[in-house]
Amino acid sequence: MTQVFNFSAGPAMLPPAVLHQAQQELVNWQGSGSSVMEVSHRGEEFMAIAAQAEADLRQLMHVPDNYHVLFTHGGGRAHFAAVPMNLSTPDDTSLHLVSGSWSKGAVAEASKFNQPKVIGELTQKEGLDFMQQPAADEIDQNAAYLHFCPNETVDGVAFDWLPDSGKVPLVADMSSCILSKPIDVSRYGVIYAGAQKNIGPSGLSVVIVRDDLVGHAQKYTPSIFDYKELATTGSMYNTPPTFSWYLAGLVFKWLLSQGGVEAIAKLNQAKAACLYNAIDRSDFYRSRVHPECRSIMNVPFQLADPALDALFLAQAADKGLVALKGHRFVGGMRASIYNAMSLEGVQSLVEFMADFERRQG
Ligand code: PMP
Repeated sequence: MTQVFNFSAGPAMLPPAVLHQAQQELVNWQGSGSSVMEVSHRGEEFMAIAAQAEADLRQLMHVPDNYHVLFTHGGGRAHFAAVPMNLSTPDDTSLHLVSGSWSKGAVAEASKFNQPKVIGELTQKEGLDFMQQPAADEIDQNAAYLHFCPNETVDGVAFDWLPDSGKVPLVADMSSCILSKPIDVSRYGVIYAGAQKNIGPSGLSVVIVRDDLVGHAQKYTPSIFDYKELATTGSMYNTPPTFSWYLAGLVFKWLLSQGGVEAIAKLNQAKAACLYNAIDRSDFYRSRVHPECRSIMNVPFQLADPALDALFLAQAADKGLVALKGHRFVGGMRASIYNAMSLEGVQSLVEFMADFERRQG
């Protein structure tokens, strides 16, 4: 079989070493005679797996002690609802930056629980998608929180700056960029992420929440999404997605073995530079995103002649380069190059792109 490089946006590829370990341990976890899938979440074995995963994530992200780390159900979207339920009253204002499809989705969900106000939207600079930092005086200091998505998975828009929000807690949807580069957790009120890109299998989500923001949930908040309930029960108010949690733990160990977030960030920069250079080198390929706002995780690009899209995808697949079709909202191509994607995978794509251009350009 040709080696396959999977550029899926999520569920996305996992580190091959992690999949092999999980395969070896699947039926008989560490000589216990049972699979991790078959043991009680409250038993000694799983409690140890859960605690180790949390400790490793704390180490990888340098999570300060005054933050809870929660492992919950519901992926990223669960927290489009859980954040407003936990951090605001129905009369409160929540502030939002809308830099693409996912942060837009978060506004729609928040409107069921509070009064969202959009204070910054995607604009254009030099004809390309660009996200401007909001001025400090646009940030209402009475707002319950300010929500944003620093890496838009569909649109490929990302930004490094943090809004200057004063005392208003920052809430970041890091579903597609968590663990991709170092961040200062202490600057955030809440960080949440669906697992299926840089953490593990889909369904699981990870929430990192400052302790003073816990314990204020709206009355009708389901207990499984009440951050206080999750924090006080060690994320075991009900049966958590145990196998996904275990697999996330293997991914965290793998990341530590690679040198942690600091080391993977350098590799991620190199991978992204390699791909953007290939896009910018000629007029055959295009990016709609301004170089100052380009994601290093999700790289959408277009062929100047969209009539060649289907041929590009078919020939790429023949070379083992799969899941490159752009999101249906955007069209064209998208290469998602999360932590598990090797530089070799990106180089193979870049070689294929050059070759395709030679033959069709
Ligand atoms: N936020 C972002 C940035 C995402 O990329 C996604 C999924 N692609 C979501 C939220 C929604 O995640 P889920 O499907 O796990 O609910």
